[in-house]
Amino acid sequence: MALFIISNRLPLKVGKSEDGFIYERSEGGLATGLGSLQDFPDRHWIGWPGIYSDDNQERLEICNGLLKENFHPVFLSEEQIQDYYEGYNNSMIWPLCHYFYTYIQYESRFWETYQEVNRLFCDEAAKLLKPGDMVWVQDYQLMLLPAMLRERIEDISIGYFHHIPFPSYELFRVLPERAEILKGLMGADLIGFHTHDYMRHFISATYRVLGLDSDLDEIHYGDRIVHVDAFPMGINYDLHYSAILDPSVLKKAKEFRKNFGNHKLVLSVDRLDYSKGILHRLKGFSLFLENNPEYRGKVSLVMVVVPSRDSVERYADLKTKIDEMIGSLNGMYSSLNWSPVYYFYRGFPFEELMALYHIANYALVTPLRDGMNLVAKEYVAAKHDEPGMLILSEMAGAANELKDAIIINPNDIDEIERALLEALKMPEEEKKKRMDKMRKILSKQTVNKWANDFTSELVSIKNINTALKNKKIGPDSFFKIKEKYQNAKKRLIILDYDGTLVPLVKKPELAIPDRQLMDTLKLLATDQKNKVVISSGRDAEFLDKWFSDLDLNLAAEHGAFYKENGKWHENVRTKFPADEEILDLLQKTADKTPGSRIEVKKTSMVWHFRNSDKWLAELREKQLINALMIPCARLGLQIMRGNKVIEIKTTGVDKGVEATRLMSADNYDFVMAMGDDITDEDMFHVMPDDAITIKVGSISDHARFSLLQLNTVKFINSLITPETIA
Ligand code: UDP
Repeated sequence: MALFIISNRLPLKVGKSEDGFIYERSEGGLATGLGSLQDFPDRHWIGWPGIYSDDNQERLEICNGLLKENFHPVFLSEEQIQDYYEGYNNSMIWPLCHYFYTYIQYESRFWETYQEVNRLFCDEAAKLLKPGDMVWVQDYQLMLLPAMLRERIEDISIGYFHHIPFPSYELFRVLPERAEILKGLMGADLIGFHTHDYMRHFISATYRVLGLDSDLDEIHYGDRIVHVDAFPMGINYDLHYSAILDPSVLKKAKEFRKNFGNHKLVLSVDRLDYSKGILHRLKGFSLFLENNPEYRGKVSLVMVVVPSRDSVERYADLKTKIDEMIGSLNGMYSSLNWSPVYYFYRGFPFEELMALYHIANYALVTPLRDGMNLVAKEYVAAKHDEPGMLILSEMAGAANELKDAIIINPNDIDEIERALLEALKMPEEEKKKRMDKMRKILSKQTVNKWANDFTSELVSIKNINTALKNKKIGPDSFFKIKEKYQNAKKRLIILDYDGTLVPLVKKPELAIPDRQLMDTLKLLATDQKNKVVISSGRDAEFLDKWFSDLDLNLAAEHGAFYKENGKWHENVRTKFPADEEILDLLQKTADKTPGSRIEVKKTSMVWHFRNSDKWLAELREKQLINALMIPCARLGLQIMRGNKVIEIKTTGVDKGVEATRLMSADNYDFVMAMGDDITDEDMFHVMPDDAITIKVGSISDHARFSLLQLNTVKFINSLITPETIA
């Protein structure tokens, strides 16, 4: 299976010289993370090479040059880059996703070109992809691509990662093409975001714009399930942590330190962008100097702004304002041997950036919105084992993980001032403790882990979707079931009642068997080879009322009672077993839910989540309950929802226990169970692999087959008579 990364840009620069084209790799975080995917030795990358060329000969030469790296270029014209990249991407989607609604510049040709370019990417991918391959689409420039690929190429798995924030529905609805964009994304099997907030906004948008139902992190889309999850992108931790051990970085660090003098340094590093809160930061620093004269001459802000799009008016304006503010600040407070702000309007090579990070006493990261913000993470790592302190905007995705930073609201200038004072006064041990805690998190959640987590989840989701597709009963599978039925000598047939034999209705007392059902059951039960059981959540009285005249076995209240030879019995209660699988599920949930913990008692196991984020805890609670259903049922344990806790205790019995009792009472060569409910999963789970387990109305992980519409009676009739179903 080959892996295809598709992103707007290939991770390299193509230049032209007299001797031909020159290719220069740019090893960003993404390229590093993807490079670590050992499970996919056959990796390809599709993207714009960053050079314009209309000449076929030149294009061929570039294609051949790139092919050595398994890179496949998509050539775009200057007009296309203008309207798709500068236009739709950077003048529509970027401001919208960063909550700069009023900065949106709309031109209908932007959207036309966006579609056209997405199609060009699809054309290139279609030439290369084969069934079974995996595609990972990167970012907002290619949001239509997942659906285009799904329509064009069969049997591929498609992942999409959104590297910028996904805004709340209230903002997303502003986009004229909101429905088309969401439908484009829904072509993917897995959609990833940096944080669970963006994930929540996305799920909400699919519900409100497209009316799609979701179940936790799964969105139902046609006959597929689209999974949505949070994968916080990390950094190459070892590279940044060890950078200062490199003699050239250490030399630079010493040189910088000497040049800056002895005062404390507060560092900030960003691209020139309105989302980065650069002006807010300058205002906060100015206020700090104004209100705290004792720090004048002792603290400087080292501000690195990397040029970006400064030919665009809005960016040029921002640059002018930054220049002016810094000019006025320096003019007001500078002395002969101290400047309040050291301003660098340029990019720094890696070694110099690491040296700056290392010598900076503090980092001040104040984006008004930021999908993740890698600078914050890089600073913490590059301090090596030195204390330092990070002041971080709560609007950056990174704030979800770096909770030991001083977290601020960048819109609150006073808070920036307070945070600077707090950092300056913080004891060394406290800083060291907090930085060490953050480093521990970063050392685990690396960019390699991010890439591996995403691709392995994509593999498992693809497997689930394929398995689900194969479960629907069609002519072939029906024929095999019928053949097995006909060849069997002794059959056990267990049927759920509500939702399986009769439709679900609002008032349960109205769900009574009709003549056709009674005739079918009678016919089924009169066959001497069949033992037919109705296993229901209903009580014994209801089942007796309707079925006591037929030669059927009954099980009431989810297996708590069963009727045999005309007499009702109670199933025996089970003991509490300590179970590794359950403990493992609880531990994994606790690991994935910051602030939560597990407790193991003599008679129960508990997951506590009082101190966790509410939305995340609710999601994890539901996921945990889902995952616990089957193992707890198998062991006869009960899942109790308490106040901010989930407790697993001993319980009575369920349909699985009853099915086990029935199966052990005789030797059957045909076992079939049909049910629609979560309680029926208990019996599907305990059945042997060759049993005919059928989920009615939907698809289940544990049932081998599905009848998507409620036509159980027709199905049974077809099974026991010469007729077949379509
Ligand atoms: N960076 C760089 N040279 C510089 C300044 C920054 O290579 O002079 C890198 C920095 O190391 C980081 C990236 O640019 O990896 C910025 O990533 P971030 O997520 O902070 O912001 P983005 O620009 O992606 O919005």
